[in-house]
Amino acid sequence: MADILYTYKNQVYANITNKCDCSCTFCIRSLKDSVGDAETLWHQKDPTLEEIKTAMDNFDFTGYDELVFCGYGEPTCALDILLTCAKYAKEQYGLNIRLNTNGLCNLYHGRNIVPELAAVIDSVSISLNAPTAEQYDAVTRPQFQNAFPALLEFASLAQAAFAHTQLSIVDVLPADEIAKCQKIADERGIYLKIRKYS
Ligand code: SF4
Repeated sequence: MADILYTYKNQVYANITNKCDCSCTFCIRSLKDSVGDAETLWHQKDPTLEEIKTAMDNFDFTGYDELVFCGYGEPTCALDILLTCAKYAKEQYGLNIRLNTNGLCNLYHGRNIVPELAAVIDSVSISLNAPTAEQYDAVTRPQFQNAFPALLEFASLAQAAFAHTQLSIVDVLPADEIAKCQKIADERGIYLKIRKYS
């Protein structure tokens, strides 16, 4: 069975689904089967709510104050389970909750789910990936049309709803594209995290 909880660089992560509405050219899933101390992050079948709760109950959260929903898939594609597990982790173990997302969840679900997320999640990191819709579509290959404007709209809604919201890119982008991404973030008052590519 695939790992549901795993640790990487002093953070604990929840890998709740392998579903995703993108097919990013850089996705780590196409390079290796696991991250950190996980043996594999590929689920033969996505875990049930009870299996995720059991994984939490069996995990020693000593020394961790945050649980990050981020695995081999887009956590918001398993929305009901994400919301229930985030609430459980917060109430049962006093953890802050972070969501790492591609930011397309409102498009995927056909409604604004930010209020539902904000009720149980403290901070959100949204993968911006590129400064224009054309570049975004080329690199993330989303299932939907108009993914980039939907991502930006989600980011603005998130900024107003969560204690902390950030957009993220990797440092391999050319300097002019990083500057354009910085402008997108600044215009919305959102912090831009420039991650080191690994
Ligand atoms: S959104 Fe994340 S999980 Fe989905 S293909 Fe892109 S990098 Fe992979």
